[in-house]
Amino acid sequence: MKNISVIGSGTMGNGIAHVFAQTGYQVNLIDISQDALNKAIATIGKNLDRLIKKEKITEEDKTGTLSNITTFTDLATGVEQADLVVEAATENMAIKLDLFRQIDEHTKESCILASNTSSISITKIGSATNRKDKVIGMHFMNPVPVMKLVEVIRGYSTSNETTDVIMELSKKLGKVPVEVNDYPGFVANRILMPMINEAIYSLYENVAGVEEIDTVMKLGMAHPMGPLQLADFIGLDICLSILKVLHEGFGNPKYAPCPLLVNMVEAGVLGAKSGEGFYKYEAGSKELVVSKQFQK
Ligand code: NAD
Repeated sequence: MKNISVIGSGTMGNGIAHVFAQTGYQVNLIDISQDALNKAIATIGKNLDRLIKKEKITEEDKTGTLSNITTFTDLATGVEQADLVVEAATENMAIKLDLFRQIDEHTKESCILASNTSSISITKIGSATNRKDKVIGMHFMNPVPVMKLVEVIRGYSTSNETTDVIMELSKKLGKVPVEVNDYPGFVANRILMPMINEAIYSLYENVAGVEEIDTVMKLGMAHPMGPLQLADFIGLDICLSILKVLHEGFGNPKYAPCPLLVNMVEAGVLGAKSGEGFYKYEAGSKELVVSKQFQK
């Protein structure tokens, strides 16, 4: 494998392009938005500068990494040479199914098609193509250049060969791949999201306040960040949509999203990205201020 196409150049796509390019692969970074592509290249440059400062790479490594990345707004041209496509576009079923139909049409027969989806069924994505055996989940964690885990998700029809190739490739990127089967939430979100939901329920039922809940989990369970702060960073809308996938997928009421979470998303309170979630994120300040609604 030499040529990798990454689709979507947002939060995850720029990180995925970064690690492939830094490992020496030719990367075609594709987005419908030229602005998103420009921002992605700028972000990768900044992240490489940080590595230079830490003396982990040299100025030449940075130049080499950036020169391995070519940007495209046309999907067909961006994937035609690819040995592997990693899709990291917006988490929306219709967008992903449409993308995989097109990718299937424009790539070489041997090309493996991976999705970085957090919650959409790999089996369903595979069904949009004529190569279900070559469709697989490659679930990187945010921030991609830092986080070691890749959750490798086998759809119902994913072949052993495809899985082996992706496991080996993930190791080449310096990551630790873990193989899991395609069921709602895979493993990471099936365990993480009920914990976050339970933390929100504890707040909703007034068992404790925001800082108390986060402190219990940080100091008591050695989590680097409390579940409510983590939910703010992931995005409350994303947490809600993953909980809905678990709830609908298993038909089990234990996954029902907490009404407080539903209310916050309906109010446009989406976490750090909207400036407010369980905490307030004030411009220019690193200080987290607990929202008034949650102060005791
Ligand atoms: P994002 O909103 O930051 O970026 C998505 C990008 O996709 C945007 O730049 C958008 O212009 C582009 N896009 C949309 N439709 C497109 C199309 N048809 N063709 C090409 N580009 C298109 O989203 P993100 O947070 O990077 O998430 C991307 C994927 O990664 C999602 O499936 C998400 O579930 C998954 N994921 C996200 C995280 C996270 O922490 N953000 C973690 C793991 C997995």
